[in-house]
Amino acid sequence: MQDVKFEVNCYGNAAEGGGLTKLTLCGINGEEAVLELDEEQEGMLRSRFSRSFYVRCKKEKILYEIENVKDGAALKALAKKYYFCDTCDFDNINLYGAKRVLKVVVEALYRYPRLRSKLCYIGSHSGFEKLLIALEEGDPAVLNQFNLQYICTGENAKKLGALVHHLLTNIMNNHEVYIASAMSAYGLFDAVLLDQNDYDGYSYLTLVSLLRKNEAVGFHPKGCHTPESVVYHELGHLLDKMCGLSEKFGFKSYYKGLSREEIRFGLSEYALVSPEEFIAEAFSEYMSNPEPRAIAAKVGALLDSAYAQKA
Ligand SMILES: [Zn+2]
Repeated sequence: MQDVKFEVNCYGNAAEGGGLTKLTLCGINGEEAVLELDEEQEGMLRSRFSRSFYVRCKKEKILYEIENVKDGAALKALAKKYYFCDTCDFDNINLYGAKRVLKVVVEALYRYPRLRSKLCYIGSHSGFEKLLIALEEGDPAVLNQFNLQYICTGENAKKLGALVHHLLTNIMNNHEVYIASAMSAYGLFDAVLLDQNDYDGYSYLTLVSLLRKNEAVGFHPKGCHTPESVVYHELGHLLDKMCGLSEKFGFKSYYKGLSREEIRFGLSEYALVSPEEFIAEAFSEYMSNPEPRAIAAKVGALLDSAYAQKA
């Protein structure tokens, strides 16, 4: 038996035996889905974890195309054309909001092309849930949509669907208003989920004024008062997972050297929650504030160097 280092984060582990690599994915309720991969399947899975966004034109061209899209279906076609993610669903979300989120994703993909490996799904929570329920019920076409048709079939696919569905339900139970939320699911179903209740008329204005208030009182970092900054926060989580920044010695020693006051006043109150939230908050300021303060600049530099080491 030999440990195989798959980048499936803390929920999964792998072991080798009898020519097959057995990858056990553990869910939040103690449930498991076991994938048995031969050498070829294992190779395909490994290359999935190192996928990069393919830059084939100027960023401005894509941003312009997003701006001029007329409906959710056209936005989906655009996401497919440039391959921002494996699959997406922009039905039932305000188009204006979805465009704003997608523009941030494009900005991030041009700067960190390997973030693509963490973008399996982008879109509405309900669209994602629909796919997971279909997988749980045995619809094999769902795995094709995620480009995962080679990893399992039948009962294992159903188990996998149930496991990720539970993960989604758990994450969503902790959110009321969330604008955007990121979910890391073994590198197989990682997603950027968009709030279906926001971005519309009066509720959008309420949301923006809430973000401004949160920034003003220091609950969120300086410069982070827009829906875009929330998306950057979420992408910060995915980049952290991808580069393993929160596990790195350099980061840990920097983080430990800061007092609660320094974090509270030099970054944000929310950053006090955990090292992971600290990173996401700092990344949000790093990307949203034209003049990021010392902590955001430092964490941004640490993340950039962790990314460079990974690439
Ligand atoms: Zn967060």
